[in-house]
Amino acid sequence: MGLGSCGGACPRPVSIVAVRYVWDFWPELRLRIRSTKNKLLIVDFDGTLAKIARTPQEVVLEKEAKEALTRLSQSPQYKLAVVSGRSLENLMSFFQIKNVIYAGNHGLELLGKNLSLPLKAKKAKKLEALVWLLGEKCREDFAGVPGVLIEDKNYTLSLHYRNISREHTLFFKQEVGRFRKQYAQWPLIWKKGKKVWEVRPKIKWDKGELALYLTKKFRGALPIVIGDDVTDEDMFKSLKHSAITIRVGHSNKSSADYYLKSSRDVRTFLGESCRL
Ligand SMILES: [Mg+2]
Repeated sequence: MGLGSCGGACPRPVSIVAVRYVWDFWPELRLRIRSTKNKLLIVDFDGTLAKIARTPQEVVLEKEAKEALTRLSQSPQYKLAVVSGRSLENLMSFFQIKNVIYAGNHGLELLGKNLSLPLKAKKAKKLEALVWLLGEKCREDFAGVPGVLIEDKNYTLSLHYRNISREHTLFFKQEVGRFRKQYAQWPLIWKKGKKVWEVRPKIKWDKGELALYLTKKFRGALPIVIGDDVTDEDMFKSLKHSAITIRVGHSNKSSADYYLKSSRDVRTFLGESCRL
């Protein structure tokens, strides 16, 4: 065989596996799900189970999603976990479904039978005062900026800017940059999500760690992970080789293997999962 046009110095071919649309691969996915007796379904809330709204308060969990989740929660084959950046209390106000694991504050709060967070996750409690103080400083700074919503959720802070006007966008961006610089020494992590900055304690615990913890608790179950945002990527990465990972919205930068197009598509997936 010859050396080809680059005389043997060609770069190694890079294996690029494109993220795949769930329904294009449904027969094989369906088979994989059906052939595993126990399943651990980990689902994010905003943008995944429910469509993103103008404000977090305006988000609605559609009846079909609630019904499918209820059916799955009653199936002996499924263990269901809903994980969110919302506080646990706020997250639970959307659900009245029993036999479900609920995790708030990106996994820093957990509610589920025989489950308790490990010590490393509980370290967040010590940083609560810092999160509060940063929230106060942000509130002061952005007081005159309409459309900025600051949510102090005790363990974490969310700076929503979905409704900010174009004229204030640059100021908001600059101020976030200034805050990050000024408080860089504080043990907090800033992460940019969909029109939101999430600030959380700098500890070795995130949604990815929580997902790993749950897989250890339910060893042998096939994990199916669905999420739409940057914090869900931590779950996709940590369960990359053991789970069916699904991102809501196509992105070539995602670590998920599959994607669904919208929260409506997620509802269809949940409905189909009930029938398996
Ligand atoms: Mg989300």
